[in-house]
Amino acid sequence: MKILKITNGRIIDPASGRDEIADLWIEDGRIVEESKVQGSKAEAEEIDARGLVVAPGLIDLHVHFREPGQSHKETIGTGAAAAAAGGFTTVVCMPNTNPVADSPSVISWINERAAQTAKINVFCTGAITKGLKGEELAPIGSMKNAGIVAITDDGHCVQNNEVMRRALEYARMFDLPLFDHCQDYSVVGDGIMHEGEWSVRLGLPGWPRIGEELIVMRNILLSELCDAPIHCQHLSSGGSIRLLREAKARGVKISAEICPHHISLTDESLKGYDSNFKMNPPLRTAEDIDLLIGGIADGTIDILASDHAPHAAYEKEVELDHAPFGILGLETEFAVFCDVLIHERKAIGLSRLIEMLTINPARLLRLDRGTLAPGAPADVTILDPDLEWTYDVEKTCSPSRNTPYHGRRFRGRAVRTIVGGRTVWAL
Ligand SMILES: [Zn+2]
Repeated sequence: MKILKITNGRIIDPASGRDEIADLWIEDGRIVEESKVQGSKAEAEEIDARGLVVAPGLIDLHVHFREPGQSHKETIGTGAAAAAAGGFTTVVCMPNTNPVADSPSVISWINERAAQTAKINVFCTGAITKGLKGEELAPIGSMKNAGIVAITDDGHCVQNNEVMRRALEYARMFDLPLFDHCQDYSVVGDGIMHEGEWSVRLGLPGWPRIGEELIVMRNILLSELCDAPIHCQHLSSGGSIRLLREAKARGVKISAEICPHHISLTDESLKGYDSNFKMNPPLRTAEDIDLLIGGIADGTIDILASDHAPHAAYEKEVELDHAPFGILGLETEFAVFCDVLIHERKAIGLSRLIEMLTINPARLLRLDRGTLAPGAPADVTILDPDLEWTYDVEKTCSPSRNTPYHGRRFRGRAVRTIVGGRTVWAL
C-alpha cells in the first residue's frame, strides 16, 4: 500500500473548518487519519510543506479544452497539463467542441479521451440544446447516463425562454446543475467590447452591461418559477451582482462565478487593439470591478473559475473585429485571485479563496471532492500564497499563447499538484 505524508504544512480545509499546522496522511489514493494508516508509516514517502499551505485540490468548473475538433488550440491532455501547472486537480469542460457535446456518443468519446490522456480529473458538460442552436433540447437524460456533470450552452445562450424553462425542468428531474452564459443577442448584436467611453473612442461595437443583466434577471425568474437552481457563468457587470444579491436574499436558488480577467483588467486595455483583451463577456470598468469584488467579499458570489479559452496565434492575430473571444486562464488563475483579492484588495482571506475554488464548485457539481476530510480522494494542492513570480507564456503547457498576463508579476502560486495521491506537477 502506497503511503504519502505531507509534513508541517498549514492545512486549510474550508469544508470542515480546519486551519492548522499538521501532517496530512494519504494512503491508497485517499486522505486518511494518521491513526488509521494500515501500512508501514516508516516507509511513507514524505513531502515537506513547511511554510506552505496544504489545500484540497483546486476545482475549475469552466474550461474549454478543444477536443474533439480543434486540437491545434488545445487537447484534453495539454489542457489538463496546464490545469495541473495552475494547481487544479479537477476541471469541467464546456460543450462547444466540434462536434458539439450534445449526445451520449460525444460525451463518451470525451470521457474516454480524458481517461487516456489527462493527468487530472476532467469532467464534461453536455449542451442544453442540439448543436448549441437554442432550439431543440439535447438528450439530457442519456447524456447524464454517459457521465455529464452539468448542462450548458456556453459560448452561446438559449434565447427562447420557454426552451430554457423546459431545460430547467429536465435538469431538476435528472438532478443536474444548469449553467448559463448570460447574453441577450438582441441587445448585444455584434458587440465586441464594453459599451462605454472606450468603445466610442476606439470606434468598436459595444456589448452593454444590460445584455448580461437581462439574462441574469430571466434566470432568476425561471429559477424561482421552477424552484430549481441556475448557475450564471462568468459575470462581468456590477449590475448583475445587485440582481443576484437581491434574489439570493429572498431564497432564489441562483449562483454565479467570476473570472480572473473581470476583476483585474478593464475595457481601457483594448486601446492598443490587442485581441488578448477581447473576451465574452467583455472587460468592463473599474466601477464594475469594485462591485464584482464586493459580491465576492459579501458572499453573493460563491465560485471562481477561469473560462480557460485557448486560441491559436494566427486566429487571434487578426483585426480585432475578427479575432475570437477568450484567453488562456488555468496557469494564472490562482495567482490573479490571490494577488487581487487577498494581497491587493484584502477583500477576503485565504480560507475563503480556497473555499471558492474547492468545496463550493464540488457541491454545485455533486462531486465527492474539494475537501481533505478522511476518506476523500487524495486531490491536494500545495500553495505558496506569498511566492512572487512572473508569468512566461512561452513556458505554457498549452499549444496556444493567448494571454494578457505574459510578463506580469504575481504574488501567490501553486507549487505542487497531487491527484489521487500522486504528484502530477511540481514547481
Ligand atoms: Zn461563456
